[in-house]
Amino acid sequence: MTITRAEILAVGSELTTGSTADTNAGYLAAQLTGLGVSVLRMTDLPDDLAAVEDALRQAVGRAQLVVSTGGLGPTPDDLTREAIAAALGLQPAVDERQERRLRALFRRRGLEMPDANLKQAWLIDGASALTNRRGTAPGWWVERTDGGLLVALPGPPSELQPIWRDEVLPRLRARGIGEDRAARTLRVSGVGESALVALIGEDVLRAENPQVATYARPDAVDVRVSAVAAGGRTARELVDVTVERLLPAIGQHVFAEDEEGWPEALGRRLGTRRLATVELGTAGQLLALLGSAPFLQYGQLLRSEVATDHASEHLGLYAERVREMSGVDIGLAVRAREAGGDTEVEVAIAAGDGTELSRRKAFLAGDLGRRRAALAACAVLWEWLDRPRGQANRVH
Ligand code: AMP
Ligand code: MG
Repeated sequence: MTITRAEILAVGSELTTGSTADTNAGYLAAQLTGLGVSVLRMTDLPDDLAAVEDALRQAVGRAQLVVSTGGLGPTPDDLTREAIAAALGLQPAVDERQERRLRALFRRRGLEMPDANLKQAWLIDGASALTNRRGTAPGWWVERTDGGLLVALPGPPSELQPIWRDEVLPRLRARGIGEDRAARTLRVSGVGESALVALIGEDVLRAENPQVATYARPDAVDVRVSAVAAGGRTARELVDVTVERLLPAIGQHVFAEDEEGWPEALGRRLGTRRLATVELGTAGQLLALLGSAPFLQYGQLLRSEVATDHASEHLGLYAERVREMSGVDIGLAVRAREAGGDTEVEVAIAAGDGTELSRRKAFLAGDLGRRRAALAACAVLWEWLDRPRGQANRVH
C-alpha cells in the first residue's frame, strides 16, 4: 500500500497548556508534504490516556500513516505506548534486546536503571524499535494489521529529527511513499496580496492541479505553485510550466524563491559590492535581518531619539558617511518613525555618485512596524540595485 495520507498527533500537556510550542508537528508536516503525502490533520493532546487512545483510534481509521510525537519518557505521565497498545487492541511486553540496550546505556553512565525506565524497552506485536542515539526512548515502527503504519517518536526535537531522518525516512522510502508531487514558492515584494490576486487571475487561483495559492508572510507575499503528476507529465513539469506562465505578470516583483529571503536576494543583485548600514529608530531590525549576510561589512545603530530630530537630508549624510567610513560600495541609512499608529520609513542610499532618498509607510507601529521598516529598507535597496544608474532622484 503506497502511503498518500497521514495524520500527526503531538502528545504532551506542555503543548495543550501553552507552555511549549508544538514545533514537531510542523517539522513532520513539512517532511511528509515533501514526500508527496497529504497531511489530513495535526492534533495536540494532553498526557491523558483516554484522549490519546481515542485520537489514535480515529487517526488510524482515516490515515494510512499515523505519526505521534511525545509521551515516550519513563514517567507515569508518558502514556503514548500504553495508548497505542490500547488503540490497536494489543498488550505491550518487555523486549529483551531493548532491555539489554537500555541497561547498557545506564551502565555506561555508571547508573542503576530505575524500574520506571523498563517501559522504554516495551514493544507490541508488529512493532520494531527505532534507534534513538540521543536519548533513552526508542521510537516505535508499527505495521498495523489493516496494512497501514504507525510511527511513534520521542518529543524532544533533538531526538525526533535524527530518528526521523536516519530511521524512519529510509524505511518509508523502501516501503513506497507518496505521489509524484512538486512545489515552488515565488516570494513577492512590493505588491499587496489582493493586488497580487488580480495580477495572477482568479481562474488560475481556483484551479486544482497545478494549484496556485498566495500566503501573506511577515517578509513577503508567497505564491506557492504545487502539482501532482497528471496526464503523463511529471509534477515538476506541471509546476515549471505554471511558473513560466505567471512570471510575465508578477516576475518583476519576485525577489526570491522557496526558502530564500532578503539576504540571498540582495546578495544576488549586489554581486561583489559591499554594503554598510546605519539605522535610526529601528532597534536594530535591519542588522537582525542582514547581520550574517556576507556582503554586509558594517552596521551601525542609533537610538530612536536621534531619529526624530534630524531633517531628511541628514539621512543622506548618514548614508554617505557610513559608506566612506567603512570603505564599501554602497551606504544605506534607514530611519523609522511612528506616525499615527503606523511607521514612516525613510531610506537613503549612497553609492558615491549621488544619494537617493525614498519614503515608505510600514503598516503598524512598535516592534512590528520597526521590523517592517527593515524589510522596506531591503525592498528599496533591491529595487534600487535593479535600476540603471543616472536616473537617481538625487537629494543633493
Ligand atoms: P516527551 O517525549 O513527551 O517526554 O517530551 C519531552 C520534551 O520534548 C518536552 O518536555 C518538550 O520540551 C519537548 N517536546 C515534546 N513535544 C514537543 C513538540 N510537539 N514540539 C516541540 N517540543 C516538544
Ligand atoms: Mg511528555
